[in-house]
Amino acid sequence: MKILFYDTKSYDRDSFQQVLKEYPDLVIEYTKSDLDPRTASLAQGFDAVCAFVSSDIGTRTVDILHQKGVKLILMRCAGFNNVDLDTARKHGIRVMRVPGYSPEAVAEHAMAMALACNRRLYKAYNKVRENDFSLSGLMGFNFYEKTAGIIGTGKIGAAMCRICRGFGMKVIAYDVYQNDALKEFVEYVSLEKLLADSDLISLHCPLMDSTYHLIHIDTIRQMKDGVILVNTSRGALVKTNDLIEGIRMHKFAGVGLDVYEEETNNVYEDRSDEILEHSTTARLLSFPNVMITSHQGFFTREALEAIASTTLENAMDFQQEKASPNDVK
Ligand code: NAD
Repeated sequence: MKILFYDTKSYDRDSFQQVLKEYPDLVIEYTKSDLDPRTASLAQGFDAVCAFVSSDIGTRTVDILHQKGVKLILMRCAGFNNVDLDTARKHGIRVMRVPGYSPEAVAEHAMAMALACNRRLYKAYNKVRENDFSLSGLMGFNFYEKTAGIIGTGKIGAAMCRICRGFGMKVIAYDVYQNDALKEFVEYVSLEKLLADSDLISLHCPLMDSTYHLIHIDTIRQMKDGVILVNTSRGALVKTNDLIEGIRMHKFAGVGLDVYEEETNNVYEDRSDEILEHSTTARLLSFPNVMITSHQGFFTREALEAIASTTLENAMDFQQEKASPNDVK
């Protein structure tokens, strides 16, 4: 079975080639081009394409893939909102995905951001490199015995709860569904109480109509002064202009963002110019207590291995005509 792998980065190729050794029936060819209507015809002669959240797999692309004989779209990510599923279904093209890979990867990054903001590690790093060993501007606070408020306690939020417990924090959480596995050490509270009581707030709920701009000026006002806010989930959970207003009123000891509102789908791209073009992200970067990373929460060796393994298992299930929980319907 032949797979054309779109939008290849060196780390994708490395992780897939490593796992591919266990799948002698599969052949992968890699292209740096991302999948869109202009590049879909490259898939002539391939059984499957492997794509990502950045790909444009709308109607036109799916039509061309069908004309070229492609029968399977392998999404190497959880999201599939960029795929025209109706058109794929019409053409009998199967779509499969990787629903979860390493929740700990994202949760550990969230805690890394919380710690880096709290202890001003980015500032300390730069100061020492400039031979400035003074401690001014570097004071943080202990996480031990403080309160962590986790919004969304699914796979990643649960991992974050466990990490915060490990730091000796009191862990409170808000979710529309409670996770029974956490009840031994997590107290579920209302959103209002979470906002009012937490010293660290970390967002782990998905972006939906009900969570869009969950963090806005009114919810920010309800937070404790000196709180640390971390968002590794989706940018639009936070209303950026209101966040800037909150930063200006000295609400936050630190803000750590792995995702931002204007972020495009191109999470794997080198987007440094693009990000700086966006005024609110550039404005956020101008504040000394804001730390931004480039949607790298998932980016660990283990997560990439899990993505490669699940994607190739999906390809095998397709080849052997087996149903899979990873089918996107
Ligand atoms: P999940 O589906 O396991 O958990 C999401 C949780 O949010 C669920 O418990 C759900 O009940 C809860 N939720 C839903 N609506 C809510 C609401 N209105 N208020 C509070 N909680 C609500 O998802 P997950 O795997 O833990 O992923 C969480 C998010 O992390 C994803 O939606 C994604 O946006 C983000 N993510 C980021 C990265 C990264 O690299 N930064 C990587 C993967 C996922």
